[in-house]
Amino acid sequence: MSTVIPFPFRDAPTEVIPAYTEPVLQLDGVSRTYPGDVTALDDVSLTVRAGELLAIVGPSGSGKSTLLNIMGTLDLPTSGRVRVAGQEVTDLSDRRLSALRGRWLGFVFQQFHLVGGLDAAENVATGLLYAGVPRRRRRRTAIDALARVGLAHRVDHLPHQLSGGERQRVAIARALVNDPALVLADEPTGALDTANGEAVLALLLSLHAEGTTIAMITHDRDLAARTPRQVDIRDGRIVSDTLDRTHR
Ligand code: ADP
Repeated sequence: MSTVIPFPFRDAPTEVIPAYTEPVLQLDGVSRTYPGDVTALDDVSLTVRAGELLAIVGPSGSGKSTLLNIMGTLDLPTSGRVRVAGQEVTDLSDRRLSALRGRWLGFVFQQFHLVGGLDAAENVATGLLYAGVPRRRRRRTAIDALARVGLAHRVDHLPHQLSGGERQRVAIARALVNDPALVLADEPTGALDTANGEAVLALLLSLHAEGTTIAMITHDRDLAARTPRQVDIRDGRIVSDTLDRTHR
């Protein structure tokens, strides 16, 4: 049977993801050196397909942040190729790059990065600014995204009125609100206590089960082991890439 699934695969039955899908992100031979002859990434190739949840794991200084920045087009490689949603990014202007980022990528940060003076729905709605969604519809869409992360009852709350775990869920709703092809998460549980960290991981696992594509970086091996795919990075190189096909 040949099934042609239109990108970004939103309506594809989950059992055909990811085998038939094109990559949502592709790095080919990516290296990144910093001034002073520091090689942060050394010939990294990595493919992420729609529907995957993967953890990039490695000790401090191994190159995780550099890799995530390049995956998110916030930084460009010194050599090698990067494609997001099938589009080569290395030659794009800053304006086209930020449009591509706004359309196809969602970001989650360790420290949440919410705007203190905006309520939860307004924070989430900032994720729609690039999408050309009319103002009135933005809040409605943001509230729907908050419901997806279990925060329908916190729509009007300001960040300081929320727990750390709730703030991170708002940030996850903001990352999801534009229906991105890939969510990139930088140590998403790193600033949380154990219980809130567990709740955020449970949320990421359930979003994955619904078909959301997520790549996160972590230094926490136990956390990484609970995701279906673990990519180990050491001294700027991928040293193993393990896919657990039986993951539940
Ligand atoms: P991790 O996120 O795993 O801690 P990083 O990607 O931050 O690793 O860093 C990888 C290597 O690159 C480290 O040796 C770090 O010191 C170096 N590095 C990171 N950013 C810079 C920079 N802006 N200038 C010079 N060296 C850097």
